[in-house]
Amino acid sequence: MSAQVAARDALVVGAGIGGLTCALALRRIGLDVSILEQAPALQEVGAGLQLTPNATRVLRNLGVLDAVLQAGVLPAALEVMEGRTGRLIARCDYAPATARYGAPFLVIHRADLHGALARAAQDAGSRILLGASLEGVEADNGKIAAIASRGGEPLPLEADILIGADGIRSTVRAQLGHSAMPVFASRLAYRATIPSPHEGEPVVRLYLGADAHLVTYPVQSGDAINVVAVVKEDRPVARWSEPGETSTVHAAFSAWADEVRALLARAPDYRCWGLYDIDPLPRWGTGRSTLLGDAAHGMLPFLAQGAAQAIEDASSLGQALQEHADAEQALRAYEAVRRPRTARIQREARANGMVYHLAGPAAFARDAVLRLTGSHLIDRYDWIYSA
Ligand SMILES: Cc1cc2nc3c(=O)[nH]c(=O)nc-3n(C[C@H](O)[C@H](O)[C@H](O)COP(=O)(O)OP(=O)(O)OC[C@H]3O[C@@H](n4cnc5c(N)ncnc54)[C@H](O)[C@@H]3O)c2cc1C
Repeated sequence: MSAQVAARDALVVGAGIGGLTCALALRRIGLDVSILEQAPALQEVGAGLQLTPNATRVLRNLGVLDAVLQAGVLPAALEVMEGRTGRLIARCDYAPATARYGAPFLVIHRADLHGALARAAQDAGSRILLGASLEGVEADNGKIAAIASRGGEPLPLEADILIGADGIRSTVRAQLGHSAMPVFASRLAYRATIPSPHEGEPVVRLYLGADAHLVTYPVQSGDAINVVAVVKEDRPVARWSEPGETSTVHAAFSAWADEVRALLARAPDYRCWGLYDIDPLPRWGTGRSTLLGDAAHGMLPFLAQGAAQAIEDASSLGQALQEHADAEQALRAYEAVRRPRTARIQREARANGMVYHLAGPAAFARDAVLRLTGSHLIDRYDWIYSA
């Protein structure tokens, strides 16, 4: 371990994409890392994920991008379509942007990304404690103690620092005194993975319509298509990866283009998520504890940045721990770098959700702007992808 690193060991709570990337980043700078995961087995939901260059650059620096690419797909273009007619509104090739940012746009099944990160974190020497649920956090004698249990038995653990990567309903966040509750966005996301022979050019397609949108892209090396169908739902629904009614999806898109209805009809089943984010937090951590990923900045998926920002957090935390000799200073420095950027993305993701679902003249104006923007669609997010 380098003399400058501000901590010798870390407890990471949560073995999601954020927690595993964090473990990898901290192992690379020499910390002993234990990850507490409440689930009895490492698993991810059956859905896809887009990863943008700001995230794939970090994965490359952490030495895991090649493994991730084995199951991922490099899409050729982003196409924005009219949902009702199936007509193309705008198309933007990824190649020029990939060259400019020096890292690829990637689409992948979440289980494939999660598996690659878990293997890399374990190969790097992280200890993953499955079935271990964090219940409380206590600072003590320059250490931070986790009050955890496994199989009904107490599991005492302590380390120099603790990172809450335990998702949008974070226990660590509540333990650190935050009262922020997830905010329902009046949207449900129905997701399906549809087995599919390789069908021409791999593209990310975004179909827009009043009160609904649909995103499709290939995953599993192109053997399947991932579908995310987002619809309006005003009643707050506490749903997280529950079976979704196929008839609801078909009804919501019944007046859309033939190609959309045909694709949706091919899904063997859907799972349904209520879409939630949190308001940007005024601070993240305190003392020797901090937050990372959705626990810190749960955001709506309308910029495809939740996992990407968790991955960025991990890299930034590793860097801060190397740059500061004191652990608390390092954690506050990490938060100072990450909070403004993630808060801006949280806000812009909310705004995008409104724009995607416009109707009537407002939708007409949006589509006119998109047509004019054309091949420069990606440039609008230069500030995200170039970081
Ligand atoms: C419909 C949809 C589409 C999306 N698409 C994209 C996309 O294209 N690109 C993108 O970048 N992002 C996308 N996201 C966002 C992305 O999925 C999340 O931001 C990301 O998975 C968050 O990772 P995380 O590790 O912070 O949290 P999580 O994945 O929620 O992981 C938290 C982990 O902590 C564990 N845990 C919780 N509490 C405890 C406890 N008390 N003790 C121990 N363990 C605990 C949980 O079991 C879990 O394993 C999308 C989200 C949705 C809903």
